Amino acid sequence: MRIVLLGAPGSGKGTQTDAIIARYGVTTVATGDLLRAEVAAGTELGLRAKPHMDAGNLVPFDIVLGMIEHGLQTLAKTNPKGFMMDGFPRDLAQAEALDEILDRISQPLDLVLFFEVDYEEIVKRLLGRGRADDNEATIRNRLRVFEEKTAPLIEYYTRKGLLRNIKGTGTVEEIGQRVQAVLDEIA
Ligand code: ADP
Repeated sequence: MRIVLLGAPGSGKGTQTDAIIARYGVTTVATGDLLRAEVAAGTELGLRAKPHMDAGNLVPFDIVLGMIEHGLQTLAKTNPKGFMMDGFPRDLAQAEALDEILDRISQPLDLVLFFEVDYEEIVKRLLGRGRADDNEATIRNRLRVFEEKTAPLIEYYTRKGLLRNIKGTGTVEEIGQRVQAVLDEIA
């Protein structure tokens, strides 16, 4: 199973990943987590990424791409059950790069889950979460970046016939059941 989780910051993708991993045995690739690990370790990559993350902007393409490309190639060899991407791709250039990488290793995506949640709910959730980049100004900017750069991917994946909508409101269990109903079809 090779899937992408798509949705605004705070739409609940990350919350569902543990259940998806447990049920389907996929490995997750979460660019936000990878980047935060680089920042925490004080690597050069982390130092370059941090100001962008603090401002709620996308980290430059070359940084993220190197990280992803290496991870995916290793993964494709090590976990036959597949992978789930969370936080990547985040714009059209990243989506095209991902297609190219996956083409090269003959492992195309099966589907893209789009978590639909309205913005008021999202701001409420993120303010409650309290991560370093969860202050109101940064949240507002991340939502703007989502709207501008990431939302066009909904259309991109719809055109490829890969997009599946998940209503992202309700309890974590309810949302998990919706996710499972879709993923069981391809498992
Ligand atoms: P969120 O919960 O807001 O979706 P993430 O953990 O996915 O947060 O990402 C946090 C930050 O990391 C983003 O605001 C961005 O600065 C950076 N980031 C994560 N993924 C990417 C990516 N694919 N491309 C560029 N920047 C990214």
